[in-house]
Amino acid sequence: MSILVLVEHAEGRPDRLSLEALTVAGSLREPVEAVVIGRWSTELAGGLSGRGIGVVHVVDDPRLAAFAPAARAAAVVQLAAARSASTILAAGSDRGNEVMAHVGAKLDLPMAANVTEVLGGDPLRLVRQRWAGSLLEEATLDAPTKLLTIAPHAVAAADPAPGAAPAVETFSPDLTENDLRVAVARRLEPDRSGVSLADARVVVGGGRGVGSSEAFAELEELAGLLGAAVGVSRVVTSQGWRPHSMQIGQTGMRIAPDLYIACGISGAIQHIVGARAAKRILAINTDAEAPIMSVADYAVIGDLHQVVPAISAEVRRVTGR
Ligand code: FAD
Repeated sequence: MSILVLVEHAEGRPDRLSLEALTVAGSLREPVEAVVIGRWSTELAGGLSGRGIGVVHVVDDPRLAAFAPAARAAAVVQLAAARSASTILAAGSDRGNEVMAHVGAKLDLPMAANVTEVLGGDPLRLVRQRWAGSLLEEATLDAPTKLLTIAPHAVAAADPAPGAAPAVETFSPDLTENDLRVAVARRLEPDRSGVSLADARVVVGGGRGVGSSEAFAELEELAGLLGAAVGVSRVVTSQGWRPHSMQIGQTGMRIAPDLYIACGISGAIQHIVGARAAKRILAINTDAEAPIMSVADYAVIGDLHQVVPAISAEVRRVTGR
């Protein structure tokens, strides 16, 4: 018996959320195997070494080059059967949850999404997020094969330990036309200049209080000085001030910076679920009663159009830039 972890990757780098899922798998006291869809590379081998994986199964099928959730699920189901996996685990990313939902449907088994803690036992006791992470539920998963996804940033990815590199084996699934009916046909790449929101250590967030697309220049200046990324609330994307790829929250990105500077953002729960993994939150808001104050570590009560330029000026003074 083993635990099979679906590892997502981009340009040879294992996805951070997949490394978190591997960390959870490593705590479950069963041999861990990984499945990677796509081409194996030395970068990927480096990224997956020292992470407690016995075998990496590489599914390098050109039909899976574009994201095809049902086909990926078919590959995972077939591999799990071949390896007698007791548990199949993936990151609680949009893709991980989608593929695992298909795995559940194919196996006719329940799937626990966005798990924050595995408590053990059989039936398996676990804690999972509900309502976009605003509630934690203790649940029991009673199934011959346990299907789980791990909530983003529920655990920190363990640092790689020195040790043997995993064995690498290829796996060729049987895929039908039906499996391949849904696949990504076209990708629109976001603007990759600047610091990536997903990995930024400091994020400057702007909400309705910023007031206009042009006024974001103040936030962008501060972000530039701090080496930070700019993120936004949904009001900002629905106003068309900034693209959806910059949105933080339930229907946007989950961020985990050391510092989140939330400017003119009220702190609706749908926004906060995307930022609650931030180590520190600084709120800049004219309203001392705004809900964001209940999660903020620091607050400046004032007009962001005065406060943000003042912080930038101080950073310039201190750094001499
Ligand atoms: P507001 O709530 O209008 O707050 C503006 C804040 O700016 C206020 O607190 C005000 O005091 C302050 N302010 C105004 N002027 C200034 C000034 N000059 N200086 C300083 N402060 C000022 N929202 C998200 O962000 N992300 C999501 O992913 C998301 N998903 C959603 C999913 C669903 C299903 C639903 C129903 C909603 C979702 N929302 C999401 C929307 C969410 O409920 C809120 O409506 C939204 O987050 C509010 O954005 P905001 O804080 O920018 O605006």
